[in-house]
Amino acid sequence: MKVPFVTKEKVEEISSIYPTPYHLYDKKGIVDNAKGLYNAFSWNKGFKEYFAVKATPNPALIKLLKAEGAGVDCSSYTELMMAEKLGFKGDEIMFSSNETPAVEYQYARKLGAIINLDDITHIDFLEECAGIPEKICLRYNPGGEFTINNMIMGTPADAKYGLTRAQMFEAVKILMAKGVKEFGVHAFLASNNIENEYYPVLAKTLFTLVKDITEETGAKFVFVNLSGGIGVPYRPEQKKTDINVIAQGVKKAYDEVIVKSGLNDLKIFTELGRYMLAPYGALITKVVHFKHTYKEYAGVDACAANLMRPAIYGAYHHISVLGKENEDATVTYDVVGSLCENSDKFAVDRTLPKLERGDYLFIHEAGAHGHSMGYNYNGKLRSAEILLNEDGSFELIRRAETPKDLFATLDIYPEFR
Ligand SMILES: *Cc1c(COP(=O)(O)O)cnc(C)c1O
Repeated sequence: MKVPFVTKEKVEEISSIYPTPYHLYDKKGIVDNAKGLYNAFSWNKGFKEYFAVKATPNPALIKLLKAEGAGVDCSSYTELMMAEKLGFKGDEIMFSSNETPAVEYQYARKLGAIINLDDITHIDFLEECAGIPEKICLRYNPGGEFTINNMIMGTPADAKYGLTRAQMFEAVKILMAKGVKEFGVHAFLASNNIENEYYPVLAKTLFTLVKDITEETGAKFVFVNLSGGIGVPYRPEQKKTDINVIAQGVKKAYDEVIVKSGLNDLKIFTELGRYMLAPYGALITKVVHFKHTYKEYAGVDACAANLMRPAIYGAYHHISVLGKENEDATVTYDVVGSLCENSDKFAVDRTLPKLERGDYLFIHEAGAHGHSMGYNYNGKLRSAEILLNEDGSFELIRRAETPKDLFATLDIYPEFR
């Protein structure tokens, strides 16, 4: 059973100051989870999480992760700006971009970020626009299908990212000739994995690649970046991953491949987004209308502009009715938002306790790829973000958009200024 991290009374209190809908984050959950990650990987000297900024680009939340030792993984100009404003520099920033414009490479170089090249042709491009750094990372795409225990988890051959195996060897040789002294390797082969096997299988692939390239070229590899991809159980019947089991699985591969070949100092990096924040954020929305037609609808004051995963992926997000956590689920609803778009449904045929107007819904696992994927379709304004502290106090960590924000890019017209 999924339990909300906040009570109805607290949400009423928050809503009296900041009207629904809003994204609410659980500070203690975030900090404890980050500590757990670092603890699990403490066997690896130099382990570092580079939080994937795109998942939840909020300064207050990123600072919580920074305090636990995390850096940031950026892939765009404004994500780099956020990193700079939050005081990240040098090796604390991973720049894992693709189809990268020259200005972004220049900015990343200025900040001293570790550049993660997505393609072999970007060697020349980077050299021309920003120069080649002494430390660089290469993104690997093994092609084919990515399987765990004979189950197909992803199809790298169809993914736009990364260098082929042959290109990895060639790129390392070219970069060594251009003065690169330290290398890293990165791959992201399947997302939202709730099997504990994902990282260990990926790690073994990358460790073996490092060993093979080192043997052939003599290059010095200093880190392996396992990227993001650890999933969260969106559905109540799914099991949470066990970060200790995952980290031990990676250690086993490390001992078998890296320690055995004497490449001991290799650091493990991660670029987790979803795993770091999804379970510790919720979209809080209020029931505003009921409609009985061919189906039973409960209309809420949030819409897909606040959380678009259900609309675009058909993703399941669990819903708790605050104050009715222990009531039996007896009525089957489509829980819908107000967009003029039929896919704007947070839940389809979901059996919930009988709803009343004014009930607060807690939409689970909205802490990553939630607010950040928001958009302004139908002129909808993006909601506020609020951080809930352990003692029950709360703070606004992003204000809600106003019409002025929406019309900001129309300031070319006098009537919109
Ligand atoms: C999106 C992304 C991540 C984070 O993925 P999660 O599924 O949130 O863990 C990490 N690295 C790169 C390069 C990404 O594109």
